Amino acid sequence: MNQMTNHLPTAELQAIDAAHHMHPFTANTALGRKGARVITRAEGVRLTDSDGIELLDAMAGLWCVNIGYGRKELADAAARQMMELPFYNTFFQTTTVPALTLAKRIADLAPGDLNHVFFASSGSEANDTNIRMVRHYWALKGKPSKRTIISRKNGYHGSSMGSASLGGMAGMHAQGGLPIADIVHIDQPYWYGEGGDTAPEEFGIARARQLEEMIAKLGEDNVAAFIAEPIQGAGGVIIPPASYWPEIKRICDAHDILLIADEVICGFGRTGEWFGSTSVGIHPHIMTIAKGLSSGYQPIGGSVVCDEIAQVIGSDEFNHGYTYSGHPVAAAVALENLRILDEEGIVTRVKDTTAPYLAKIWKSLEDHPLVGEAVSHGLMASLAMTPDKAARAPFAAEKGTVGYICRERCFANNLVMRHVGDRMIISPPLVITPADLDLVVARARKALDETYKIAQ
Ligand code: PLP
Repeated sequence: MNQMTNHLPTAELQAIDAAHHMHPFTANTALGRKGARVITRAEGVRLTDSDGIELLDAMAGLWCVNIGYGRKELADAAARQMMELPFYNTFFQTTTVPALTLAKRIADLAPGDLNHVFFASSGSEANDTNIRMVRHYWALKGKPSKRTIISRKNGYHGSSMGSASLGGMAGMHAQGGLPIADIVHIDQPYWYGEGGDTAPEEFGIARARQLEEMIAKLGEDNVAAFIAEPIQGAGGVIIPPASYWPEIKRICDAHDILLIADEVICGFGRTGEWFGSTSVGIHPHIMTIAKGLSSGYQPIGGSVVCDEIAQVIGSDEFNHGYTYSGHPVAAAVALENLRILDEEGIVTRVKDTTAPYLAKIWKSLEDHPLVGEAVSHGLMASLAMTPDKAARAPFAAEKGTVGYICRERCFANNLVMRHVGDRMIISPPLVITPADLDLVVARARKALDETYKIAQ
């Protein structure tokens, strides 16, 4: 038997999985009844499961496979690095060539004076680094009371104790005693769901001003930083009104608050720019990166830090780090991924071609009786399903399974599209062609038709 049991019949693979494998964000008992879908291969923008069924992956895995599946160059880079130096750490004044080369490459790509990288293996770890780094920074600056980090409800920053606390997911906070101390949340700039009769731009300003109100309430001397995703991803691809980010920027500057942009989804081309911060016109002090950095081929993330913070943090020993910070194999793979993104003009193509095309065809879904809005930014898009378009109403709680139904209808139509409540979201590989985007929208429409019939 193959050690990976790759060739066993699907039912047997599912039984082993249900018996032994605890899945993230999943009720394993439900999985036991239904069986997980076993993905066995992938190429380009297509997955194949253990029954040989081909699925169009409109989620790029988990928002991460930016260059698409099956790029041999990355496998070769990993193999070369494993033979040369499979591991060495970056603690205690040692370094490796892949780690330092990648840090320089990221610094070259990042805007402004974001010239320094502290590596981690995931977005969650990187955000934990950020919590400790900003607090230590202010302590070194003689302002140890600046500890509190302000974040947003329905934001997502990871699943560790620190990063889940930064996140504003009520369901996550309900388990395990979160948030940890000195993290507070303001409302999200979600006009469609929460804007009522207020005009979008006015609403964007009002939601940004909540930051100023929170700073006033806590006292400027007690606030270390504000963290947010340029475009909220896991919260449902929430695109803030254009007025929102300039106002946030003004408030952070006015009150000496560090701005952390969580670029884990938005970074590395997703928005049509290398970083979402550029796309929304902000200049953060720290950016969190992961996912698209290696297109998910290796687990790697990090904090990209501005000159001033790096200089202050570097003046003392920062008692923080992960065994795999700057892992040479992950770094070599990330370097190869960045080379492909750059040399094949993938980010530019998103900006000039595929993002405008997606915006046009995605919008056409707004004529569907179930769809209240269909919006996109770069190559991330969402639509809101509603029983009442004029009122922008959500489905009643007992119909709260509409998103789940639609996701299942997508699977049945060989499309991977995710749901967040009543919102359906996509974030395809950045190499997707206009023809495949047409297919995504056609399959999404069919899934919506079927959902509409079931939800009536
Ligand atoms: N930050 C954002 C914006 C994310 O979307 C995610 C994951 O989806 C994370 C952080 C956490 O990253 P990871 O799952 O690699 O820990």
